[in-house]
Amino acid sequence: MIQVTDSTETAVYRQQAAAMNEVLLVSAARQHELTGAAEALGAGYQSAVRARDHFLAVLSHELRNPLAALSNGVQLLKLAGTDPGAVARAGDMMARQLNQMVRLVGDLLDVSRIATGKLELRRERVDLASVVRESAEASRPLIERQGHELTCALPPEPLILDADPTRLAQVFLNLLNNAAKYSERGGHIRLSAERDGAGVVVRVRDTGIGISAVHLPHIFDVFVQVDTVWHRAQGGLGIGLSLVKEFVELHGGRVEAHSDGPGTGCEFVVRLPLAEPAAAEPAPAVAPSPRGPGRRVLVVDDNRDAAESLAEMLELMGHEVRTAGDGAAGVSAAAEFRPELVLMDLGMPGVNGYEAARRIRAEPWGAAPLLAALTGWGAEDDRRRTHEAGFDRHLVKPVAPDVLTKLIAELPRP
Ligand code: ADP
Repeated sequence: MIQVTDSTETAVYRQQAAAMNEVLLVSAARQHELTGAAEALGAGYQSAVRARDHFLAVLSHELRNPLAALSNGVQLLKLAGTDPGAVARAGDMMARQLNQMVRLVGDLLDVSRIATGKLELRRERVDLASVVRESAEASRPLIERQGHELTCALPPEPLILDADPTRLAQVFLNLLNNAAKYSERGGHIRLSAERDGAGVVVRVRDTGIGISAVHLPHIFDVFVQVDTVWHRAQGGLGIGLSLVKEFVELHGGRVEAHSDGPGTGCEFVVRLPLAEPAAAEPAPAVAPSPRGPGRRVLVVDDNRDAAESLAEMLELMGHEVRTAGDGAAGVSAAAEFRPELVLMDLGMPGVNGYEAARRIRAEPWGAAPLLAALTGWGAEDDRRRTHEAGFDRHLVKPVAPDVLTKLIAELPRP
């Protein structure tokens, strides 16, 4: 403000000085604010770096465990020679460890799909009982190894959901596996389901170590693990429950966790909407038999071990198989062998899988083969690209034997 008693000149100087002062004060304040923001950003960056390093350490630990067991398995198979019992035991152990790695990598991909909004549900009408049965079956090895007892109580009438059976099975599998992991030996795990108005409530209850009130509100957050000796000893990446929450919410449901504190066990409650009633329920699908009549299959993969092991598996299932080590060899093998099914890797030197598929599609054959891409890339964009190249199917490596069996059962009769 201008002092009225001063001469005009002084008043102008004063006014300018005050204005200058104000500018300096404002810029000092800005400077301070900016420094604060930079410090805050710096702190945020530091903690993001710390979180990343911690995550990478946990991840490599989690990958090293199954890798160590698999490498032992390979040595065991070499040493076991012709002892069928030892070979079978090593094979079972390797399958278990491999499943664990496949699940881990699958979970990581799901986290990234969710983060980029690329996760899509493949919904169909499914009975909750069949989904629960699949999860219980998949969690059985861990539950049995820990000496727990699992009881499932489902109502006798079907509870039909409009859901993605694979994702829903993942939800209950994660909850059952956690119940098994976080309980002392000989615990009791109970899964129950009941109708609740227009929805269904599924409860997974355990008699395990429980969760304290401090941690309970955070356990559905991604990468959150309760830091106690017991929790640390169980391994895991801290993403299972965040996937449970995402999958349940994508289905229009919600999930809650309850525990009265350490030592009192936990209860996870999943609520899902039931499907609208349909005119007629679909007849249950008949499981294809693993050994059908032999079909002609061409496997194209530049990884020789991958191609030959897959070929051997298909031969043991009773099929006639050829292998090719790159796209160009795949196209000529297809022209000569006339396969009914081609399983084709995508990234190969020279002619890649996309180009090979286009060339095979361009052949003037009577009965064109079913073309299945076999790849490590499983995002929606990758599926679109294989579809555009002329593939009928997109399979993500590693392919489970029952997926192959189903695919072969779908081939048209010659
Ligand atoms: P992970 O099991 O890989 O650590 P999750 O996201 O599945 O990750 O679980 C997050 C955390 O929640 C676990 O680390 C564990 O501390 C806690 N938790 C989950 N389920 C249970 C349970 N049934 N009993 C006790 N603690 C549990």
